[in-house]
Amino acid sequence: MADVNFPKKLLQFLKPRLQQMLATLGRFVTAESPSLEKAAADRCCGVIAEEWGKQGGRVERIKQKHRGDLLRITHASGKSRPMGQVLVLGHYDTVYSTGTLARMPFRVKGGTAYGPGTFDMKAGIVQALFAVQALQQAETPLRKRFVFLWTSDEEIGSEASRKFFETEARRSDAVFVLEPSFGPRGLLKTARKGVGEAELIVHGRASHAGLAPQEGINAIHELARQLARIEKWSDLRRGVTINAGVIEGGTRTNVIPERARAVLDLRALRVSDMRSLEDRLHELRPLQIGARLEITGGFDRPPLESKMSAALFERARLLASQMNLTLGECTVGGGSDGNFTAALGIPTLDGLGAVGDGAHSSREHILINTMPTRTALLAALLADI
Ligand SMILES: [Zn+2]
Repeated sequence: MADVNFPKKLLQFLKPRLQQMLATLGRFVTAESPSLEKAAADRCCGVIAEEWGKQGGRVERIKQKHRGDLLRITHASGKSRPMGQVLVLGHYDTVYSTGTLARMPFRVKGGTAYGPGTFDMKAGIVQALFAVQALQQAETPLRKRFVFLWTSDEEIGSEASRKFFETEARRSDAVFVLEPSFGPRGLLKTARKGVGEAELIVHGRASHAGLAPQEGINAIHELARQLARIEKWSDLRRGVTINAGVIEGGTRTNVIPERARAVLDLRALRVSDMRSLEDRLHELRPLQIGARLEITGGFDRPPLESKMSAALFERARLLASQMNLTLGECTVGGGSDGNFTAALGIPTLDGLGAVGDGAHSSREHILINTMPTRTALLAALLADI
């Protein structure tokens, strides 16, 4: 796309549409959609489907048994054969159970819109919708086919939706994830840590602490020594962390405990670090004779490595600069569905959604004046790719 004024033109179209964007956001947010309540989530899916239906394109509802239905919308230029596909990915489920709106209503005050799921990430879905609208009114020739996929179980690990978005990602040349951006400057998330969980159980031998201490094998002592060892594997500079978040063991003070366990949170920025952390965990051996270790678990979300997003971020930065916007990037410790698509080897840019704060809390909100700019940025990226 040669026209350096194109992002600005998109922005000029979008700025007067802020009230419409907010009204749409209001409709999405007032349709509560907790990941674990299928009936409510399905209603929300219907509301989102209706709005997208007005925009043309092919709107398909992918039925789900236990979770809310998935929504797939396909847009293609129609005139010429699309040269490949781009996936725009997000989720409409939230962490808030139904009824949350009673104490946390959708409201716009000053430059801020509050409500459950505003930031994470219904405003992102609104922005994508208006990005399509902006491209249509500009009659932009689209080179690629665009698939927008709105899922319903991201907040609980994406178990049901994963195979669907991975299939779409495999067919795509790039994935744009509309998860919230980071901080008041709206940094994009160009790297995300891989996340995992492991359990370490120590089996010792019970005995009377006073009468027969020599016959016991203290599982708690063994676990403590193992944890002291494991703790040293954390390397903040490399983005590797191990956190013993839960620990339990023992029964009474005069009993040598025969069992103790710890649950560990594992994070790493690189696939190689993820693998070596898993290997080291499984290679642990007991320090006391007679003790036995049982280790299960590992990483369930691989890292989104920065090399998978670098080129897309450069494009985004350039397009943003054409709107006089300085776009920054950051690395975050939490995972998203972008971790999975990047791990398939598909370039993935994450955090393209709303600007705001307070995800998963009663102060969740977005900064409404950023909506037209973020929407124009997404539209420009779609036209550019
Ligand atoms: Zn999210």
